[in-house]
Amino acid sequence: MIQAQKGTKDILPAEISNWQKMEKIANEVFSKANFHEIRTPIFEATELFARGVGDSTDIVNKEMYTFEKSERSLTLRPENTAGVVRAYIEHGFSRLPQPVKLWYKGPMFRYERPQAGRQRQFHQVGVEMFGAAEPSADAEVINLAVKYLNELGLNDLDIEINSLGCPECRKNYREAIKAVLKPYLSELCEDCNFRYEKNPLRILDCKVESCKKIFEKEEIQKVILGDFICPECKEHFEKVKEYLSALGIPYKENRLLVRGLDYYNRTVFEIKSNNLGSQNAVCGGGRYDSLVETLGGPNTPAVGWAMGMERLNSLISKQQEQRLDVFVISENMPETFKIIEEIRQAGFSAEFDYANRKFKKQLDKAAKTAKYALILMDDEIKSNTVTIKNLDTSEQVNVSRNNYLDSIKI
Ligand code: ATP
Ligand code: MG
Repeated sequence: MIQAQKGTKDILPAEISNWQKMEKIANEVFSKANFHEIRTPIFEATELFARGVGDSTDIVNKEMYTFEKSERSLTLRPENTAGVVRAYIEHGFSRLPQPVKLWYKGPMFRYERPQAGRQRQFHQVGVEMFGAAEPSADAEVINLAVKYLNELGLNDLDIEINSLGCPECRKNYREAIKAVLKPYLSELCEDCNFRYEKNPLRILDCKVESCKKIFEKEEIQKVILGDFICPECKEHFEKVKEYLSALGIPYKENRLLVRGLDYYNRTVFEIKSNNLGSQNAVCGGGRYDSLVETLGGPNTPAVGWAMGMERLNSLISKQQEQRLDVFVISENMPETFKIIEEIRQAGFSAEFDYANRKFKKQLDKAAKTAKYALILMDDEIKSNTVTIKNLDTSEQVNVSRNNYLDSIKI
C-alpha cells in the first residue's frame, strides 16, 4: 500500500469548508485594502532561496527540497517572499506606481521533523508590500493580518513586535551580543554555535530550554534590553507603535524576537495563539528593505508577512467546537424561553443569561461564547421582529419574528 508521505496530508471533503473560508476571506479582506493576488511557481532556481532566504537560515541549510533536472538545481519553495520578489523584478513592477501590494496563498515545502503544527508540505497565505519605506506601511500590513484573523473569528491573539534596526546599527548590537555570549559558547547548543559566526542575533531566537536559560543572565539581558538602534530606526519603530495604538491593536514588545530569515531589518513581528501548543506562531513577518536589490532589482523597500494555514485551520476548528451558535439577549424571560425552544428545535445550540443582566453585560457574554447574538428587547417584541448580530463580522439585521431562523447560517 502506497501512503501519503510523512509530513503531508490530504485535505478531505469533510474539512474543506474551513479551507474555502480561509481563501474566500483572504480575497475579500486583502482586496478591500487594494492588495492583488499573485500566483508564482511552486519550484524555483535553488539560487533564489540561497540568496533570498539566506544561507545562514535553517530553511536553506536543512529544510529545502532540492533536486536536479537537466543540470539545473531546483527547489520546491519553502516560503514565497523570494518568489514574489523575483516576479516583481522580472515583470518590471518597479516601473508601476508604488506601492505595489500583492498577496498569495499556496503550498510550501520544508524538510523538517513532522509534529503537531509542523508539516513538510504546508500552506501559507501572505502579503507583500513594495515601494513604501514609511512606518505607515508596517502598520498597514500588521493591521491587515489582524483584520484577516478577526474576520475568521479569531480574536484571542498575542501580537509581538521588535525592531532589528538597520544594517548599520545592527553591527554594534551584533558585536555586543557576540562578546557577551562568547564565554557561554560551550554551553549553547550546536545550532547556536553555528549561528554565532553566521547570524549571531538568531541565537536569541533559539527555542532550546538550556539556551533560553543562559539568555536570562543579567549581563546578557543588559545587552538585549540596551538601546542599540540609531535615531532614525528608533523613530520608525516609535511611529509603527503609535499607529498600532491608533488602530486599537494591542501589542507587546519582545526584544528576543529575531525571526528565522536573514533579510529582515527594522520592524519584525509575530502573532501567536495560546491555543496551539508548542508551535504557537500563526503569523510572522517584517520589513525587508534590501531583498529586492539583493535579488538583482532596484533598491525597493518592502514589508510583508506569512501565515500558516494549517495552524489557522486548527484555531478555527477549535473555536467552532467550543462555540455556541446563538446567544439570546433579552430582558423578558418568558419571551426568551419561547424563542430559545424554537432555536434549539431548529437544530442550533442556544443559550441565554439566567441572571437576566443588563443588555451590555449580555452582549459581552454573547461575544465571548457564540457566533450570533439574537436580540429580543422591548423594541423587537413590540414590532414582532428580532435583531440578529453576526459576532464575527458585527453585521446586524432586523428581521421578522416569523422567518428569523433563515438569517442564522452556521
Ligand atoms: P517556526 O518558528 O514555527 O518554525 P518559522 O519562523 O519557520 O516558524 P515562517 O517561515 O515565518 O515560520 O512562516 C510563517 C508561518 O508559517 C509560521 O508562523 C507558521 O504558522 C507557518 N509554518 C512555518 N513552518 C511550518 C510547517 N513546517 N508546518 C506548518 N506551518 C508552518
Ligand atoms: Mg521553521
